[in-house]
Amino acid sequence: MKTQKDFPEGMQPLGKKEKFTFRCHKDIDCYMVCCKKVDMFLFPYDILRLKTCLNISSQEFMENYSQVVQGQSHPYFPAVMLRLADDEQKACPFLMEDGCGVYADRPSSCRTYPLERGVDRSPEKGMCNEFYFMTDNDYCHGHKETKEFTIKKWTRDQRLDDYNMMNDLWAEVDTVFSSNPWAGEGSGGSKQQVAFTVCYDIDNFRLMVAKHSLLDRFVIPKNQKRRIKDSDTELLKFGFEWLKYFLGKPSSLSPK
Ligand code: SF4
Ligand code: SF4
Repeated sequence: MKTQKDFPEGMQPLGKKEKFTFRCHKDIDCYMVCCKKVDMFLFPYDILRLKTCLNISSQEFMENYSQVVQGQSHPYFPAVMLRLADDEQKACPFLMEDGCGVYADRPSSCRTYPLERGVDRSPEKGMCNEFYFMTDNDYCHGHKETKEFTIKKWTRDQRLDDYNMMNDLWAEVDTVFSSNPWAGEGSGGSKQQVAFTVCYDIDNFRLMVAKHSLLDRFVIPKNQKRRIKDSDTELLKFGFEWLKYFLGKPSSLSPK
């Protein structure tokens, strides 16, 4: 995701009803080119979906498929990138002989491509405006195809709604992180470690929730508690709200 201030000079977002042509398919001569040498940030929901698809723990995912780097848009919280093969090809680890091995759970940026999505992060105004703009990579010949899309049609086609919703919640939390809320602890302090666990290690966050009876400390309806217990996605949503509370910021959670 980009924020408005990150717009490359001269690039204009696509209009809501603007049409573009694109098609990616197995017979195209650039097939799988884009799955190599790709700099890809992974957001918390991407990691949750991938670790579930691979049937491994979030900790195993982080150890085997990610690298932690300096924050994407600010220096106060680390970002996570996909770790590529350590060879000449630098292929995505999920690239199989005949295509993507995690297609149904591929990360947000793979789904959104050839578009890029940005959000206007103004939580204080209670709003989150989205905008999209078109990438322009010479190696990608999908642009020469004739199938027409609008943004709405593309997001439906790529099943982006859940990803966009979760990424917007993440963007709100990352905006809190960008205000350096670590109370002098600095990077790697205990609060930031807790935040990292919530965002990137959902299985250990689940253990933490059970150990500290976190769900019992807030006014949460019974059916929502059950959903949080049953679903990693619901747990991550709770985690985002809990982090805001934990860091002394406005949160939808009410303590008992
Ligand atoms: S996750 Fe799939 S689509 Fe995305 S880069 Fe890897 S192989 Fe390609
Ligand atoms: S380079 Fe473009 S058209 Fe080719 S496989 Fe990747 S997304 Fe599809």
